[in-house]
Amino acid sequence: MDAEVPHAAEDIAQIRDAVRALCAKFPGEYWRVLDRERGYPSDFVAALTEAGFLAALIPEEYGGSGLSMTAAAAIMEEIQASGCNGAACHAQMYTMGTLLRHGSAKQKAQWLPQIASGALRLQAFGVTEPTSGSDTLNLRTTAVREGDHYIINGQKIWTSRAEHSDLLLLLARTTPREQAHKRTEGLSVFLVDMRLAQGTGISVNPIRTMMNHATTELFFDDLRVPAENLIGEEGHGFRYILSGMNAERILIAAECIGDAKWFIAKASAYAKERVVFGRPIGQNQGVQFPIARAYAQMRAAELMVREAAARYQAGEDCGAEDCGAEANMAKLLGADASWAAADMCLQTHGGFGFAEEFDIERKFRETRLYQTAPISTNLILSYLAEHVLGLPRSY
Ligand SMILES: Cc1cc2nc3c(=O)[nH]c(=O)nc-3n(C[C@H](O)[C@H](O)[C@H](O)COP(=O)(O)OP(=O)(O)OC[C@H]3O[C@@H](n4cnc5c(N)ncnc54)[C@H](O)[C@@H]3O)c2cc1C
Repeated sequence: MDAEVPHAAEDIAQIRDAVRALCAKFPGEYWRVLDRERGYPSDFVAALTEAGFLAALIPEEYGGSGLSMTAAAAIMEEIQASGCNGAACHAQMYTMGTLLRHGSAKQKAQWLPQIASGALRLQAFGVTEPTSGSDTLNLRTTAVREGDHYIINGQKIWTSRAEHSDLLLLLARTTPREQAHKRTEGLSVFLVDMRLAQGTGISVNPIRTMMNHATTELFFDDLRVPAENLIGEEGHGFRYILSGMNAERILIAAECIGDAKWFIAKASAYAKERVVFGRPIGQNQGVQFPIARAYAQMRAAELMVREAAARYQAGEDCGAEDCGAEANMAKLLGADASWAAADMCLQTHGGFGFAEEFDIERKFRETRLYQTAPISTNLILSYLAEHVLGLPRSY
C-alpha cells in the first residue's frame, strides 16, 4: 500500500492537509451524479483506502496507520468539510473498535491485514431490526450453535453498504431473552463473510432513501457462520457493540462538524458576493447573525467532539463509564450544529440554495440523517437523563 497517511508522530494538521488534497479530486459534480443515480462512490472509497485513511485505527503491526481516535475524527471531519460524503465508508473505522478490542489474536491476524490493505472491506454493521428499532436488546435475529457453526435466522434493516462490503459485523441473539442472566446478556457478535454467504442463506434488498446511503435490508435463512467467527465470548456481544458505538458516535459527530464548516463557509462566501438592493446580502445583520450563530454553535460542538475523542483514546475498554456521556453529547451537539448550519445555508442562498448545482440541497438531505441515525436524538437525551443525571428509567 502506498500510504499517504503520516505515521510515526501523529501530525493532525498534516493529516487534514492530506485528506483535503485527496478530496479536491472529487468535486461537487462527482457527488451530484452519484446522488442522482444513487450510485456508490467506488473511486472515492478506493482512493481513501489506497491512501491508508480507512486503516487509520488499525495498529501498525497489522498494516494500518495506528492513529488515534482524534486523528480518525479529523479525517472524517475533513472529508465532510470538503463537500464529500464519508458515510460511504465510515463504518470501516467504527466497526474496527469491536474487532480490535474484543477479537482474538487469531481473528485479528486473519482479518486486519487484509482490511488494512483494502483486500477486504468491513463496511457493514447489522444491528437495527424492523420490529425492535431503537430497542436493541429486543432484537429477534437468532444464532443457534450447531457443531462448529452457528445457524442464523432473522432480519435486519438499514444495513448500510451491505452490497459494498465483504464483511458484516452482526449482532444476534444466542440465548433467549427470558433465559439470559441479565437483560444486556444473551447477544453475540459475529463477523460474517458476505462473499461466502451470498446465495446461501442471506439476501440483500436495497432501500431507496432520501439521501444516497447505499442502505439495505437483509434476510437470513439458515445462514451458516463458522463458530470461529464469533467475536469474544458468546452472550457478551451487547457490551462489545457498545464500545464500538461510542467510536461511531464520535466519528459521526466529527462528520457533522465537517458538514457545519462546509455550510458556514459556503454561506459566508455567498453572503459576501450576492448583491441585492445595491449591497452584499451579508451586509444585512439579518443575514450575518444566523451565520455567526451557526459558527458559534459549531465551535462549541467541536470542543465536545475533541473531549469525547480524547476520552475514548484514554480508555482501554471504553464503556459507558469512560466516554459514553461525552460520545453521546458530541453526537447530539454535532448533529444539532450541522442541521442548524444546513438550514442557515439554505436560507442564505434564497432560491439558489434549492438548485442541485449548488450542492446545498444534497448536503442538507445528507446531514439531516444524523438527527435519527445511528442513534436518534431522543435516545441520547434519555441516556443523559438516566445515566448521567440519575433520573428514573423510562424504558
Ligand atoms: C439511512 C440510514 C442508514 C442506517 N444505517 C444503519 C446501519 O448501517 N446499521 C444499523 O444497524 N442501523 C442503521 N440505521 C438504523 C438507525 O440506527 C435507526 O433508524 C435508528 O437507530 C432509529 O431506529 P428506528 O428507525 O427503528 O426508529 P424507532 O426506534 O422506531 O423510533 C422512532 C422514533 O421514536 C423515538 N423513540 C423511540 N422510543 C422512544 C423512547 N422510549 N423515548 C423517546 N423517543 C423514542 C425515536 O427517537 C425516533 O425518533 C440506519 C438508518 C437510516 C435511516
